[in-house]
Amino acid sequence: MSEPTKDYALKAANAPSRKQKRTRIWRITRAILFLILALLAFGVVVSGASLLSVPEARIAAAPDSGVQVNEITRLYPITMARVVAPRTVDEISNAVRSWPGPIAVGGGRYSMGGQTATPDGLQLDMRNFRGVVGFDPQARVITVRSGTRWREVQQAIDSAGLAVKIMQTYNTFTVGGALSVNAHGRYIGQGPLVRSVRAISLVLADGRVVTATPAQNPDLFFGAIGGYGALGVIADVTLDLAVNAHVRREDEKMLVSSYAPFFRRRIRNDTTVIFHNADMYPPAYEKIHVVSYRLTKEPLTVANRLLPEDQSAWSHRTAYSMITNGLGGYWFREHVIDPLIFIGHPVTWRNYEASYDVSELEPESREKETYVLQEYFIPVDSFDVFVPRMRRILRDHRVNAVNVSVRHALPDPGTMLAWAPNEVFAFVLYYKQRTDAASRSEVGRWTRQLIDAAIRSGGRYYLPYQPVATRAQFAKAYPRAPEFFATKRRVDPANKFTNNLWDLYEPAADGSTPSATAARTPAVVPAEVRMVLDTLRGYSRDESAELITHPEWDLVYGSDAYARWLAAGRKPSGFPYLKSVGTFWRSYFGTWWAGRDRYDFGIGKHAMLGVIGISTAIEYGLKGLYENTVGRLSELDMPAGGTPEDRYAAKIAGQYVDLIEQRGWYEFGFWPALKNLWTTTPATGPGMLRKWERRFALSAEYGIKTIYAALIGFGTKSAYSADEMRRGIVAVGLNDSLANGVPLDRGYRVLFVDRYNPFRDTLLALSDHSNQVRVAEISGSDFVTVSGTAPASWRVPSRARVVVAYEVPSDPGHNRILLRSNARDLLDVIHRLRIEGKYKIEHIYDY
Ligand SMILES: Cc1cc2nc3c(=O)[nH]c(=O)nc-3n(C[C@H](O)[C@H](O)[C@H](O)COP(=O)(O)OP(=O)(O)OC[C@H]3O[C@@H](n4cnc5c(N)ncnc54)[C@H](O)[C@@H]3O)c2cc1C
Repeated sequence: MSEPTKDYALKAANAPSRKQKRTRIWRITRAILFLILALLAFGVVVSGASLLSVPEARIAAAPDSGVQVNEITRLYPITMARVVAPRTVDEISNAVRSWPGPIAVGGGRYSMGGQTATPDGLQLDMRNFRGVVGFDPQARVITVRSGTRWREVQQAIDSAGLAVKIMQTYNTFTVGGALSVNAHGRYIGQGPLVRSVRAISLVLADGRVVTATPAQNPDLFFGAIGGYGALGVIADVTLDLAVNAHVRREDEKMLVSSYAPFFRRRIRNDTTVIFHNADMYPPAYEKIHVVSYRLTKEPLTVANRLLPEDQSAWSHRTAYSMITNGLGGYWFREHVIDPLIFIGHPVTWRNYEASYDVSELEPESREKETYVLQEYFIPVDSFDVFVPRMRRILRDHRVNAVNVSVRHALPDPGTMLAWAPNEVFAFVLYYKQRTDAASRSEVGRWTRQLIDAAIRSGGRYYLPYQPVATRAQFAKAYPRAPEFFATKRRVDPANKFTNNLWDLYEPAADGSTPSATAARTPAVVPAEVRMVLDTLRGYSRDESAELITHPEWDLVYGSDAYARWLAAGRKPSGFPYLKSVGTFWRSYFGTWWAGRDRYDFGIGKHAMLGVIGISTAIEYGLKGLYENTVGRLSELDMPAGGTPEDRYAAKIAGQYVDLIEQRGWYEFGFWPALKNLWTTTPATGPGMLRKWERRFALSAEYGIKTIYAALIGFGTKSAYSADEMRRGIVAVGLNDSLANGVPLDRGYRVLFVDRYNPFRDTLLALSDHSNQVRVAEISGSDFVTVSGTAPASWRVPSRARVVVAYEVPSDPGHNRILLRSNARDLLDVIHRLRIEGKYKIEHIYDY
């Protein structure tokens, strides 16, 4: 009889104990960890060496035919054909007479919506046209050239005991720019700047110079002041002055609901109040901080006559960024910053208090976020009607406001685009916004709501800011606009003087809405187009993605080069594996660097690219090692034209490239590739050593990739939703024979195209009609990125700029160059590239 107990005891004695089991698991885990770490270390070393092996290429630029003009927010860069800075009236006349195309006038360029520029036009930069033409201290009158800044006027009149009568809060602006928007300040008993203007001289579209006063050429006087450069160029300006005097500051905090009666009782008719403003505290807008400066005979507490010109300071920047950072900044401002700033009752000169410079507002950078102004003018009696409407909109949209500052203005004496047809309060909103397309759209949405609220309250909105109003809103806010445009047509029948504001709002001669054309497209899409685009699901894309996608495309190009290498029958050992890893890292660092100030790529993106880069380094590093050792030995036995396995590898490499041009690499069928290797290639034949070496090498490669692709595919699908596969190209000049598209407003159409090659091919086809078609934006973005290769001697054309460039490893003497262009210049740039024939376009990035 057997002895089961003994048998069992034997087995039990041989079975590993729990402790042994744990030790074994730990050993295996340690071995795996060690292998992973060794591979990672290998990947890092290969990455470093590869980056060094691919230096960045320097590409010379062809002379640029355009000049980019921007404004303070940096939201409206516009490329103009030329900028001319006249110094005399004759030079202005000559420039106007001789320039055949559109002309925009630029003062200090502080307006915030492209009001000083028009695409491909001439800008008359007035900043050199400055100085005092005549000054009569007794009569308190001064005549200056329009490019003179208020600060220079103050410097000229201060010693005569005089002050500017009406100007903005800051003295940085030009007199011409201030006149053309009909500015206002913080004065009590004053109003729009026109109230202090005696006369102007105006250079008309035919080059003639005319004088305009309320009595002489009154239509030109009341049209050009507040006319945003539409009627002509304001040359000389004669202004009334005031007396410079001591002013004493006083302030108090109150409920917003108490402000209107307080103003009527204590401020409105008090002739001793020179400056007055009242700042509402966000985010509740329930409390208001009231500050007034009264004439006084008290001695000065601040002896300086003017503030220093450069007022940029770390403390200002920190305060503004703290207020808008969302971390208790509002509370801190109201309860700590303001009480500190407003300690005591300083007595200063009036000129001193009117000499702030906008540099005090300037943040460190305006790339990702920028500070912007808006203004609404509300009849004084409607203060309590408008405030709750405004408050609700600002709260609902969580507008990141610094404050809403209230000022007062007496009625305008008759300008055609008057913002104060009667006595008004000005609500000046100063806020921070992000610069990406989605944030700009969102700002447009709530701004239109505020404009509606102002109009419903019997008020108007101010035009020097972002032009996001609809044409209907413009028409309601400026009911005398038809008279203004009629005057313009009389003195400027060819519509020479324009800018982004008038490109958007000026009607055609018959009063209809003009269609945009390739030759004359506004720099930004009109509000009506924007509003439709905003409703299209999946239309807007992340602008940053298109830059940082390039490294992944670099891998596609590397795989393509490898497939071609094999298809040409070249030996795998000769392929530049190391450099092919280097181009990925060069592309990654180049695109990141180029976009670092403007975009938050996000840690996830960097982590993903890091994983891709290291795994590519491991793959190519191991492959390079193998092919240059074992592979090179087996190549000695390789028959001419390679073994069937070599040809199979080339075929699979080609199929792989076809797939990754459209989809994720992990979707490739590595497992079928492995199976078919063994079933479709003969087991015997010439070059047996090479044949079997390839079979094992390729099996190892396809096998490992099968497992890795499954892991990555699973991770990717869990982390990301299916991507929107179509992109929207918004363009003017499209017609049914060129491409169907959904008609929008003013001749704009949106064309939906599948991503990848169809997207690229559509744009290539449209570039043949670049004189007729102009792209306005693509999927909400103003920028487009194009990649391609060109000989090392190639020069980048104007209106495109190089993001990153490096040598193509498999094709020395050629560089791969990532170009960026403004969407509106894209077809032109592509057209020129194709005519020249040196830059071979590979891909147009579709975000
Ligand atoms: C920080 C800040 C604070 C501001 N505060 C105030 C304020 O307190 N009150 C107020 O009313 N506004 C204010 N504004 C708006 C400001 O008044 C306008 O943007 C003004 O136009 C700026 O003057 P500028 O010299 O920069 O003009 P630009 O921006 O260069 O030009 C403005 C318009 O005037 C036209 N223009 C300029 N010069 C001439 C000329 N010689 N002939 C014909 N057309 C010309 C331009 O074509 C353009 O349409 C403020 C703006 C900023 C940025």
